[in-house]
Amino acid sequence: MLQRRLFHSSKATLYKTLTPLTHVKHAGLKRNSNFAKITDKDIDYFKSVLSPNNIIYEPDPESLEIKQHNVDWFNLYRGSSSLCLFPTTTEQVSKVLRYCNQHSLAVVPQGGNTGVSGGAVPIFDEIILNSSKMNKIRHFDEISGVAVVDCGVILENLSQFLEPKGYTVPLDLGAKGSCQIGGNVSTNAGGLRLIKYGNLHGAEGTLGYVTGVSLLTPRLPKAVNVAMIALNSFETVQKAFVMAKEDLSEILSAFEFWDHESVDVVKSQMMDQSNYPIEGKHAFYALIETQGSNREHDQEKLDSYITRLFQADVAKDGVLAQDSKQAETFWSWREEIPGSIAKSGTAMTYDFGLDAPLLYKMVEDTKDHFDKKGLLGKDKLYSNLIGFGHLGDGNLHLMANLNEFDNGGQSLMDDFVFDWAIKHNGSISAEHGIGISKVHYMKKAKTDAQLRIMKTLKDALDPKGIMNPYKIIPEQS
Ligand SMILES: Cc1cc2nc3c(=O)[nH]c(=O)nc-3n(C[C@H](O)[C@H](O)[C@H](O)COP(=O)(O)OP(=O)(O)OC[C@H]3O[C@@H](n4cnc5c(N)ncnc54)[C@H](O)[C@@H]3O)c2cc1C
Repeated sequence: MLQRRLFHSSKATLYKTLTPLTHVKHAGLKRNSNFAKITDKDIDYFKSVLSPNNIIYEPDPESLEIKQHNVDWFNLYRGSSSLCLFPTTTEQVSKVLRYCNQHSLAVVPQGGNTGVSGGAVPIFDEIILNSSKMNKIRHFDEISGVAVVDCGVILENLSQFLEPKGYTVPLDLGAKGSCQIGGNVSTNAGGLRLIKYGNLHGAEGTLGYVTGVSLLTPRLPKAVNVAMIALNSFETVQKAFVMAKEDLSEILSAFEFWDHESVDVVKSQMMDQSNYPIEGKHAFYALIETQGSNREHDQEKLDSYITRLFQADVAKDGVLAQDSKQAETFWSWREEIPGSIAKSGTAMTYDFGLDAPLLYKMVEDTKDHFDKKGLLGKDKLYSNLIGFGHLGDGNLHLMANLNEFDNGGQSLMDDFVFDWAIKHNGSISAEHGIGISKVHYMKKAKTDAQLRIMKTLKDALDPKGIMNPYKIIPEQS
């Protein structure tokens, strides 16, 4: 188990300093006194349902075994649960949840714990219901491509299962080595190929527990081509995207962009500097991927697209991957961005849904705002601030390194960026979910009627509110 989950489990245990407890950072959060506290009788019951090695019970929530389940991937949110359960079947999930409901025990569903909104870790002492041991591929139909899998199947494992059969998963994201399909559904994961395959839909564990997922998988593309281009302004990044849709239409499978500052962070933390595929310094870079069924045909289309970009003076430089290894390297420069910034210090991560022209304006305005206040730069409150994302679906990731766990600094940045997004008719989350990180902004982002509908649904499905409490729906809605 340890090896398979190395990616995430190593994160929390690697941190020398753990982030303060979430309810200490957010003093307004109070434990719901309707919830019971775990007793020996409860533990006896869980032992009658699950085998002993599928239960971690540690009265000290900071002990190594349970700590990794109490802290999120970015070390920004921390709870103090002493109990983590690992069911292996739907029946066990059902028995556990029925018991928790009867005894008013609060529960937090947890998959790969790579979520970035603090949704997968407890706030107080909620029981963690981890899906890592529900990891069977139940059924695969080689004609239709329909796969029925347990919630705890790791995305990359599903991909490796499907590839030899000529199929692929219609979802790809940087955390694929650890995130699980139940977690992907629950967070509305989008990822790198949303423009081709769309995204998933879920409720972040607040309405129930996803025990299995049925998904229609597409054929593995016969031809994949990847190009990286350099651009001087965000305006030209948008032009390049529109031209990609014109010239590559049905074979366009990804269009990712990032700024130069993102490259600096990856160079300093993860990758060999000399390997960056494009020489010189450019304000922006974009990665364009095509997936199709005829290599020559796709290559020809991509070549003439790149030629047109140069003729129109849209791109300043560009390079086509010559083989799959090179394509992988190009992708790494994009995929390593979140991991690199997390490695370079306490990292705050945001994802917004905005009209395309506003995506980088938000980064510029944020930089400008904190620069003028003297808070942005080496050894300041925010040592850097970068912008990158999935242009194809209007999804911006803004990330910044924060001086240690300065909670005031986190709130200051939260207030500015969330207010900015709401003022510009954007969405405060595009694909990462609301979790605990954005719950305080829901009253500003949603109307009273919208929040009432959410609460009505929640009350209907989970009347005692035991499923992932304190998340998504603000108190008193
Ligand atoms: C390096 C990196 C890159 C990333 N890139 C992307 C990206 O490109 N696109 C993207 O969308 N996300 C991205 N993410 C965020 C994260 O990987 C996704 O949100 C992912 O879908 C979470 O899956 P998980 O299994 O880790 O879920 P967890 O983090 O364990 O849980 C996430 C939420 O789902 C709930 N949940 C989990 N399992 C269940 C279940 N079985 N039933 C009910 N509720 C459940 C949890 O309670 C929580 O609210 C990235 C994260 C990292 C660390």
